[in-house]
Amino acid sequence: MKLVFLGPPGAGKGTQAEKICQEMSIPHISTGDMLRSAIASATPTGLRAKAFVETGALVPDEVLIDMVRDRLNEADCANGYLLDGFPRTVHQAQALDEIKAPDMVVDMEVEDEHLLSRLTGRRVCRACQGTFHISTLKDENVCPSCGGELYRRKDDAPETIQNRLNVYHTQTAPLIDFYRRAGKLAPVNGEGTPEEVTAAILRALRG
Ligand code: ADP
Ligand code: ZN
Repeated sequence: MKLVFLGPPGAGKGTQAEKICQEMSIPHISTGDMLRSAIASATPTGLRAKAFVETGALVPDEVLIDMVRDRLNEADCANGYLLDGFPRTVHQAQALDEIKAPDMVVDMEVEDEHLLSRLTGRRVCRACQGTFHISTLKDENVCPSCGGELYRRKDDAPETIQNRLNVYHTQTAPLIDFYRRAGKLAPVNGEGTPEEVTAAILRALRG
């Protein structure tokens, strides 16, 4: 199964992707995670991407398309993939159709007013990359899953979040229509509990 997860920042794509990938034995490919790790190790891609990522702008299409093409050609993608964070523009979607077209696109829908608190309260584990909301944490600094150190992403600062939501609405939301017209869109309500959303995604995929 070749799957794309679409939806605004904070919709829960990363959390749900982890569960669906376990269920379906396909690799979870998060372009945000790939970029953050490239930035942390100061690779050429990381150096190029840093200023875009930190201000909530999109990294240029050609950087992402090359990165995703290389990743999808690795052996573990032979049985499919789950892309989280890519494509984010119509140009990226057209490129993906030429690399390895998705079978289905899950669109996780959450209202903007809920996204703000999800993103400002989000913490990420330096060790396992897990994401958590402060409302569920006993200790804001310790990963409940592996004990690693939690931090707040630079682009989860309130002043950057509005920028990311604007970028989503102008550049990424047009993909909803792109994939609807291709007959691949599976809309899912992203506002329930994590368990409810997982169940809704699995129903949509098996539908
Ligand atoms: P989000 O929580 O917004 O879904 P991600 O971790 O997916 O965050 O992405 C973080 C940042 O990485 C984006 O704001 C953007 O700067 C960059 N990025 C990730 N994927 C892409 C992409 N497909 N195209 C351009 N930029 C991207
Ligand atoms: Zn962890």
